[in-house]
Amino acid sequence: MNFDSYTDLGVEAAAGLVNLLTPGFNRGRAQQVGQSRSDRQRRAEEAETTIWGSSGRLSDSESGGLYELAERLRPVFEAAARGAQDDVAHLINALLRDYHAAPQLARHDSEPWHLHFHSQEKEAGRARARGATCATALAIVVGTGGLSRLGVCRADRCNRVFVDTSRNASKQFCSPSCMSRQKVASFRARRATASVPETLSRVDDPRASELRIQGTTSAAAAPRP
Ligand SMILES: [Zn+2]
Ligand SMILES: [Zn+2]
Repeated sequence: MNFDSYTDLGVEAAAGLVNLLTPGFNRGRAQQVGQSRSDRQRRAEEAETTIWGSSGRLSDSESGGLYELAERLRPVFEAAARGAQDDVAHLINALLRDYHAAPQLARHDSEPWHLHFHSQEKEAGRARARGATCATALAIVVGTGGLSRLGVCRADRCNRVFVDTSRNASKQFCSPSCMSRQKVASFRARRATASVPETLSRVDDPRASELRIQGTTSAAAAPRP
């Protein structure tokens, strides 16, 4: 993305938390987010490892806090996908307040001055710290014209979210698999409406469209590969 690496990390982390810890659908399948307390704890630990590379056990309240954060981050992506700019701004402001975000310029390890996205309360716990980081990163993205970079997959039976890093901000799906699922679905829908003969409507047969345009060749006469 065009932002600095801390911002990139923060918005990708926000999307990652939403995708791992909120229910709904994921690429055509129901998304499990943990039934029992131990399931949820294990999933939250996985999220910590996948997103931040940190290992170790989480307490009940730490894993609960991460789930709660994920539930609060999802509406930001959903409002952004609807283009509801005011909602996005209000939601992020509430996150900045509630997670006590207090970005600070820092300099260490011979790096130049750069922004740390910390919470005001250093000992406030993991979810508070993660929330402050995600909220600050989202605020920077949205505050610098990047609202259209946040989205929700538009494929059927998928509501995973994404950060669009494509050059022209044209991403619509969370993954190549959702893109092809949706292509097939809309192709079938079009075919059902147009009631084009089965043999002429194969996606991979370039003759199909040709034959349809000419409108003179019957399905039975179509050459077979
Ligand atoms: Zn640093
Ligand atoms: Zn998807």
